[in-house]
Amino acid sequence: MSPSHQLPKNYDIEEVERRWQNAWRDEDNYFDPGSPKPRFIIDTPPPYPTGNFHIGNALNWCYIDFIARYKRMRGFNVMFPQGWDCHGLPTEVKVEETYGITKNDVPREKFREMCRDLTLGNIEKMRATMRRLGFSTDWSHEYITMLPEYYKKTQASFLQMLKAGDIYQSEHPVNFCTRCETAIAFAEVNYVPRTTTLNYFDFDGVEIATTRPELLAACVAVAVHPDDERYRGMKGKRLAVPIFGHQVPVIEDVAVDPNFGSGAVMICTFGDKMDVYWWKQHNLELRKAIDRQGVMTAVAGPYAGMPSEACRKAILRDMEEGGILKRQEELEQRVGTCWRCKTPIEILSERQWFVRVHQDDILDAARRVSWTPEHMFTRLENWAESMEWDWCISRQRIFATPIPVWFCDSCGELILPDGEDLPVDPTVDTPKAPCPRCGGSNFTGEKDVLDTWMDSSISALHVTGWDGDGRPPLFPAQLRPQGHDIIRTWAFYTILRAKALVGSHPWDQILVNGMVLGDDGFKMSKSRSNIISPEDVVGKYGADALRQWGAGGATIGSDIMFNWNDVVAASRFQTKLWNIFRFVMGHLDTVTGEPGPVTELTDRWLLVRLSDTVAEATAAMEGYQFDRALRAIREFAWNTLADDYIEITKGRLYAEDSSRASACSALRTTMDVLCRLLAPIIPHFAEECYHNLTGRSVHKEGWPDFAYADDEARRHGDLLVKMVAELRRYKHDRGMALNAPLGHVMIYAPEPVDDAGDAGRALNADARWSTGTPRLEEVANGVNFNMAIIGPRLRKQARGFMEAVQALPPDQLRNPPTTITVDGEEIPVPADSFTPKVAYQVAGEEVDVLTLGDVVVTIGHSS
Ligand SMILES: [Zn+2]
Ligand SMILES: [Zn+2]
Repeated sequence: MSPSHQLPKNYDIEEVERRWQNAWRDEDNYFDPGSPKPRFIIDTPPPYPTGNFHIGNALNWCYIDFIARYKRMRGFNVMFPQGWDCHGLPTEVKVEETYGITKNDVPREKFREMCRDLTLGNIEKMRATMRRLGFSTDWSHEYITMLPEYYKKTQASFLQMLKAGDIYQSEHPVNFCTRCETAIAFAEVNYVPRTTTLNYFDFDGVEIATTRPELLAACVAVAVHPDDERYRGMKGKRLAVPIFGHQVPVIEDVAVDPNFGSGAVMICTFGDKMDVYWWKQHNLELRKAIDRQGVMTAVAGPYAGMPSEACRKAILRDMEEGGILKRQEELEQRVGTCWRCKTPIEILSERQWFVRVHQDDILDAARRVSWTPEHMFTRLENWAESMEWDWCISRQRIFATPIPVWFCDSCGELILPDGEDLPVDPTVDTPKAPCPRCGGSNFTGEKDVLDTWMDSSISALHVTGWDGDGRPPLFPAQLRPQGHDIIRTWAFYTILRAKALVGSHPWDQILVNGMVLGDDGFKMSKSRSNIISPEDVVGKYGADALRQWGAGGATIGSDIMFNWNDVVAASRFQTKLWNIFRFVMGHLDTVTGEPGPVTELTDRWLLVRLSDTVAEATAAMEGYQFDRALRAIREFAWNTLADDYIEITKGRLYAEDSSRASACSALRTTMDVLCRLLAPIIPHFAEECYHNLTGRSVHKEGWPDFAYADDEARRHGDLLVKMVAELRRYKHDRGMALNAPLGHVMIYAPEPVDDAGDAGRALNADARWSTGTPRLEEVANGVNFNMAIIGPRLRKQARGFMEAVQALPPDQLRNPPTTITVDGEEIPVPADSFTPKVAYQVAGEEVDVLTLGDVVVTIGHSS
């Protein structure tokens, strides 16, 4: 314990935070598998290693760290793992940019190695930011999805679901980005508004409107509504497709909107999801007119080899020249685009791998999870219910978990590796035995790789100890924290996979956080130049201020706008707290040993308020309401402790009085509890104070279990605080200095109050409490005139009127006469034109009187 004279006047954020970050040991945050304590396993999000731990990550991790630290203090054996979700397109693109190559310029393994090296470097950068933010991560539970020890589990999970029939391959329409040249899942399609042209043209005598004339080559039918009189009798007829000439049937379907265009639509394979629906419903032919690169196929005849955009222009020109195009209109529509590159997606029919989506099972498992905030469950429910296709999990990329299967070259048999041989790369490794069906020994490995969500959706299994088979020993996890932007992906897929692989829900609770918006209220983006990085904030105000901003910025689940003012306010609060702490330590130094009994009113009142604060903060932390917890702690420290308590008891702390020990005990307890309340949110600051106070680490202490009930102290203390504030205002209103002597103050209260002389010292007055009633005598002492009445009513006579009133005897001031003589003229006295001024006396001494409810205070100035 260092005496307060060694405490620096200013709190040096940078120095203190660095010092504690160097002193803390990683081992103290490790999950202990042998511990008898209750488990609290957090299935933390594995971020994509971009190299930049952004402010949205920071908010998410602040929440996780508040919870991890709080739960440890509550006696839980906490696991706060850190994963890295490495695979995927952004890294491939970055490598291609960095080295000026495309993925096909180098061997697959070489390209993967370049991606791995880039990723490891990025992870290292992000780790450094996380340490600077003071997160109590369990680094012994770090996982990196691109490393064999992790992705062999992804492969094991694939094989288990394949054997169970939950994964299958099929030629099926999928969303496809022709720029990225890969299939993507529905969850990765963003719908954006755009203006396009609706083209009306003559389709063998029927008018048809389309936004995508380039798909004419892929036309397989024309559909009309069965009740549409205009097309009665057309069903079953065959029409010749303009320009291309192939014949297609006319079909009827109630899903056709008779009010759109001419009421007749062409069905192409595939323009949109509706085409897929009709194609399935009516068993139509498949015509692939666009390939994986977005280029027209042979089906497009003279247009083959053209990019689809060029084909669209060419067909429109040919339609116009052929007199087929009738008119064009502008149309607002929502078009699906690639989440990564914003290219409009195509729907292509491809052989792909799919995971079966059992909506009911997923929703059933999701209902067993407790959702905070509750309404986030609805988002998952809506998404699950809107899913029409299974989850497409194959990707035509390189940096990803390989799909661990081969095909027999002779008979096509699907060959699977043994579990103990995982991980495998089927493009490099070969099966250990000949084909079980035909005995052939030539195989082709699957080149497609897995969707990254296949890696990250087993995170809950991984952290609970899954070895690729059966129920993990620590399953389910207790908590999943994540953003609302990935409910339909990460949350949805994790529940799906836990249900499929273990038969149960993955976690007891899910906590969904909001997004961080720029200070202009918009999503942070380079183009708006409203990006704030955690390093900017930490560099100026420190990690604890950023963490306070995270705690106080919003209710959990709401989006939070970044605001420098909040960070400044957070840092100011720390300065205030440091000043309080230094002041308190200056007094505690002279008291040694254990805190003694707390006997005096104000001290007992402080403990009552402290007890309220602990109850409020505890309830808030239990409900993950960090803003509410921080508000309670700030109010207590700033208002109750600093403004009220210390201002009132300061005098007693300097006095050589036996009541001084009571104040020191109360302050020691208060600082101890306050440091522990602050420990999860501002761990560096709390540690610095607590270490000075006790010589121990606050992060090894329990959450304060402090309750103090004293109704009398609450009542009398509240009254004392109110009285002192009121009398301070009284001094201020009279232009008196706050420490100026106030004379005799008598406080007449309904109950006897013993404030140990605090009110008197705080006010520099001879203050006494009494249960009696003051013997007040009223003395007339002048007149208050109401000029708003006198001015307009009496005009020139006003001055004379006022002189005459002042000359009246005291009893007539109280009961005004009806008339009065002004300049020899008898005039009526206007109603409410004056009231008498009254002064009070007690035993002949003039006093001021303040009334506060049923309490009366008299202030006598004569000494
Ligand atoms: Zn794309
Ligand atoms: Zn075979």
